[in-house]
Amino acid sequence: MKRILLFTVFSLLLCSSCKKEPATSETVENVSSLTETSKENGFAIVIHGGAGTIKKENMTSEQEVAYRTKLQEALDAGYKVLEEGGSSLDAVQKSVNIMEDSPLFNAGKGAVFNSAGKNELDASIMDGKTLNSGAIAGVKQIKNPINAARIVMDSTRHVMMAGKGAEDFAKLNGIEFEDDNYFHTEKRYNQLLKAQEREKVVLDHSALIIDTKELIDDHKYGTVGAVAIDKEGNIAAATSTGGMTNKKYGRVGDSPIIGAGTYANNKTCGVSATGTGEYFIRTLATHEASSLMQYKNLSLKESLDNVMRQIGDLGGSGGLIALDKNGNVAWSFNSAGMYRGYKKSSGENVVKFYEE
Ligand code: ASP
Repeated sequence: MKRILLFTVFSLLLCSSCKKEPATSETVENVSSLTETSKENGFAIVIHGGAGTIKKENMTSEQEVAYRTKLQEALDAGYKVLEEGGSSLDAVQKSVNIMEDSPLFNAGKGAVFNSAGKNELDASIMDGKTLNSGAIAGVKQIKNPINAARIVMDSTRHVMMAGKGAEDFAKLNGIEFEDDNYFHTEKRYNQLLKAQEREKVVLDHSALIIDTKELIDDHKYGTVGAVAIDKEGNIAAATSTGGMTNKKYGRVGDSPIIGAGTYANNKTCGVSATGTGEYFIRTLATHEASSLMQYKNLSLKESLDNVMRQIGDLGGSGGLIALDKNGNVAWSFNSAGMYRGYKKSSGENVVKFYEE
């Protein structure tokens, strides 16, 4: 009798566990609704296409349309990666690729010329979850420098590779190369000639001030960058550039330097910089922004403004874009304008050029 009772209880238990079948899928639904909940924190992407003398009075409506269209394309592409559940790393790489392929920006195809008439490219990418990073500096003919930076991050024990070694490594890893003609855009070449001419004029009068703020503002910006947070809450940042017009051959700017041009940390924020690189290196601008949040409890916007004040005080100019671990987006710049935009899962979509 006892046995029968035990058997009945056991069967009942078994049956009730059988009935859990639909409950399991409910659990799965719950899991996905949990993901939905974390989605409520949102996914987002913010990008820049460089800062400088970007003023309404200097832009034709065709130029405005061209920049707006390309920035929106870059935002949409990165956003799509995030929307489909892709990583923030893939999203920032995708957005940067689109700007690198456009002659409008100083990265990849539209890269500026150095003083030797060559395009020397720098780029870096960082994963805020692991703090893994990859960077390449002073490379030539790489179509999408950010892809080479990603390969350095994913397939080596190193963070940064430079020059010929980086190029050889990129080639071995199937990174696309283009010849010099691909990078030769009339606009950038004329900027080089103008900068060299002006530098000569300035030098003729005074050897002291080659890098006047005006010269910098006029001719030396256009770097691209992206920062994203994905559905998992992981932050990534990426920056790619041709550097500064008429830079001395071999000069490396802030863009490939982790903590200067690019930084991402899930604990705080992701940041990408553009501007007179030397000042962003000296202030370790993007890491400084993260530290101000982490150790001084400043908001994202306060941190960026603080860093840009430091840069301004030293005589540098440019800007920062960023987003924090809660998906808040912010930017700060002390130049006349900055090509920039963001797109959030909340539905916000913004593209701007000029001062607020
Ligand atoms: N920061 C870049 C560099 O100094 C230039 C730029 O942002 O346009 O190389």
